[in-house]
Amino acid sequence: MDYPSILKEIEAEINLNQTRGKVASYIPELARVNPQKYGLHLACMNGDHFSLGHSDEKFSIQSISKVLSLSLAISRLGSRIWSRLDVEPSGNPFNSLIQLEYEDGIPRNPLINSGAIVIADILVSALDHPKKDLLDFVRKLGGSEDIHFNEEVAQSEKEHGFRNYALANMLKSYDNLHNDVEEVLDFYFHQCSIEMSCKELAQTFLLFANEGAIHNTKDRVLTRLQTKRINSLMQTCGFYDEAGEFSFLVGLPGKSGVGGGIVAVHPGEYSVAVWSPRLNKKGNSVLGMKTLELLTTKTGRSIF
Ligand code: GLU
Repeated sequence: MDYPSILKEIEAEINLNQTRGKVASYIPELARVNPQKYGLHLACMNGDHFSLGHSDEKFSIQSISKVLSLSLAISRLGSRIWSRLDVEPSGNPFNSLIQLEYEDGIPRNPLINSGAIVIADILVSALDHPKKDLLDFVRKLGGSEDIHFNEEVAQSEKEHGFRNYALANMLKSYDNLHNDVEEVLDFYFHQCSIEMSCKELAQTFLLFANEGAIHNTKDRVLTRLQTKRINSLMQTCGFYDEAGEFSFLVGLPGKSGVGGGIVAVHPGEYSVAVWSPRLNKKGNSVLGMKTLELLTTKTGRSIF
């Protein structure tokens, strides 16, 4: 596959100046980002790497972290976690409260906020040093010690995270949150504040292209079955109430975050991360989706 030519074509086709969409502002600290940023990194299983634009610049990974916390929970506790949450697409916004009440405090899936808060609760119970252990896990997958929380972003979300407080309290009322609301949300806001570049994200997500083993090592983090399940969840639930649209356009499992990042995985082939902060109404990066649609269309390859 001639990725360099394909990426050149993509670069020529996307137009930063005509891209609509808005930078996330409900977490005030996120609104400070330059909307014109654009980066891409493609990490291939055969060891090739390709990139475009600001691919080395770190940004807030936000909900992309939900895949990483889920992976850590599954690697530690296996399928026991599924007694506390479901695996169905929600068809609702990522921070919706309504469905959680209808469904008696069992979140639809681990990639919406209510589900990720339950996973955070599970990790707070299971880990000795929850925040440090999560960061160490991400650093191990990414092969870099230079991955950190952004305390300003975590604090900004804590001060404005009214819906997440509401979700955590509702979970508590259904006995599906075992630790203190404050402690669990402190962990959750920190995981969302992790900053990584497209290059680091693509490297990290090679795990899901590589059947659960860290690329180029014999270090297995997830079993094949666990990896299949996480990729399936990304496919059906990774884009909030736009998971169908992403699957329709791109045809790869992936996960977005309101920091403007999207990561997608072609099992056995590559992992790719794109960053462009302007979001559509559903909270997904406009150019990120466009870029990945162009990538799978021009290569003629997806998982389907
Ligand atoms: N920290 C954000 C929130 O909880 C994450 C949302 C996202 O990236 O979808 O609202």
